[in-house]
Amino acid sequence: MGDLPKKRCYKNAKVTSNTNKEKVFDTDKYLTYDVLSIVFKYLNGMDLLNASMVCRSWMEVANDEKRTRGGDTFLTRYGIASTGIHYKTRIVHKLKSKPALGLVFKSCHSVCKEDCHCTLFPKDCAVITLGTYGVVFNNKEMEEASDNVVCAFLPKIPGTTIEVISCKKNFTGQYYSQLFAAFEGCENDRPKCLLFFCNLEGRDSTKSITKMLLERCDHAVKPSVWGGVVHDLYICNSKNFKSENCPQLAYSIAVILSGSVDSWSVVINKKYCSKQLVEMRLKAFKDLVSLRKHSMGFMFACCERGQNMFAECNVESSIFKKYFPKIPLVGCFGDGEFGYTIEPNKTSNVKNAHCYKERSTVFLIITYG
Ligand SMILES: [Zn+2]
Repeated sequence: MGDLPKKRCYKNAKVTSNTNKEKVFDTDKYLTYDVLSIVFKYLNGMDLLNASMVCRSWMEVANDEKRTRGGDTFLTRYGIASTGIHYKTRIVHKLKSKPALGLVFKSCHSVCKEDCHCTLFPKDCAVITLGTYGVVFNNKEMEEASDNVVCAFLPKIPGTTIEVISCKKNFTGQYYSQLFAAFEGCENDRPKCLLFFCNLEGRDSTKSITKMLLERCDHAVKPSVWGGVVHDLYICNSKNFKSENCPQLAYSIAVILSGSVDSWSVVINKKYCSKQLVEMRLKAFKDLVSLRKHSMGFMFACCERGQNMFAECNVESSIFKKYFPKIPLVGCFGDGEFGYTIEPNKTSNVKNAHCYKERSTVFLIITYG
């Protein structure tokens, strides 16, 4: 190892030097910033997180590597693979970033008590499991979800707050008050993006709570809204992990994103019932959106759309991918949608801020970095 090529050593790196860091690297000349950064590129998100806890210099390299990575989206299969590895372990291996929020879209036939991910993820990462009528991954709409599982993990984004509030039984005043407090308490900022999920029993109450929330929002720019009604809804929240009751059945879940993210949503309602009309709608949507370094796309479609409406597969997801080829798309088919179209040239009518839709598809883009 005597003839190492001349690479930037940690001491000369563009970080403020401090005697402590120099000491660490003097004791090990070979693990320079460059060598570590090459090695760290191969680590998954959870291993990178562990590496960042070794010492201050490893943390700096790990943090630089984390900044190059966006969120995680992938398609996997439910159950145990031929390699004998359970699907939850495979998810962890696939993660590139430390997750802050997980959305797991599955078939309503494969949702079960096994869907607790608490022991695998960081303490502050909530995972929402949606038992759906079909899943979407990029330009593939798998209306028979069978054993396909689509995952989307939002990473920890500096300057962004993600609040997850859930209602585990039928509607309680506590859920309302927590939700309003979180909605109005977004520090120094307005809520940028709202996600709502509920099961069939929670539909009516979630419908009215979303309307009340949006009406209370007196900001000129409304937050984007995305989500819908699924067959089964579970939340796994490692903060309050007790193995015997995790994951918990939820009637309604709200996620509020605020801070340094940008987000847009568009509702493609029942009027947009042909390929041409959907294309027109998404083309106009594209002109509104300005993308930052990392982006994720989400699609929530009514189960009456898809093949039932267009008599062919993958219509809406393919059009989305045509206009946003670089944005990964994840989502599902449900039975009622939550969405809001942000139209910048129209003053929003707070008296009519319905965001519950039927026979619609709602797209959402979250972009940051
Ligand atoms: Zn859990």
